[in-house]
Amino acid sequence: MNAQNPRRRLAKELAVAAAAYQVTNVIPHCAQCANPCCKLESLVLELEWKQVKFLWKLDESRPAFDRRLASGKGPEEIRAGNGLYYVHRKPCPAYDELQGSCRVYGQEIKPPGCSDFPVYEDQGSVVADLRCEAVDLKKLVGWLSRAIGPEFRVIQSADEEFPFLITLSLKKMPSRGIDRKR
Ligand code: SF4
Ligand code: SF4
Repeated sequence: MNAQNPRRRLAKELAVAAAAYQVTNVIPHCAQCANPCCKLESLVLELEWKQVKFLWKLDESRPAFDRRLASGKGPEEIRAGNGLYYVHRKPCPAYDELQGSCRVYGQEIKPPGCSDFPVYEDQGSVVADLRCEAVDLKKLVGWLSRAIGPEFRVIQSADEEFPFLITLSLKKMPSRGIDRKR
């Protein structure tokens, strides 16, 4: 058996637990959120061309759109870079402000970054973004601890540059050995 398998299995369990936390604790809050992430006031949305084309209902080619963007005549909220597009300071076109919901929820075109926010698995740890008001760190730590079991302790640390990003990593607990009094 490959030595990496237990790590991969653990990462998968964390990913499942993070996704379940979102479904149970985050998504039900979105409709009454005071500071919806989809308004992109503090968050930046990373998109591929196919998503830009779909969400902004563009019928021009990508080179034509890029030229328009570079000349300053494109949507002012979109910036191009590294072959991707970054959207900031205007609500996402898929955001339904009245319902407080995403119009492309559950569809393939929905950007993967949207599904990851605010709690996601990353390289065997879970990252929680506290800019989402629905994230309760204590509850999340308890949630992950229950999902992973008593073999591991959940350790939290804040990103130095972006302290609202909390990494929750796992520390293996020492095995307790044999209780000889029994
Ligand atoms: S910030 Fe959190 S609660 Fe608010 S809309 Fe986004 S995911 Fe939902
Ligand atoms: S695609 Fe949906 S979830 Fe993502 S920012 Fe737009 S409205 Fe929000």
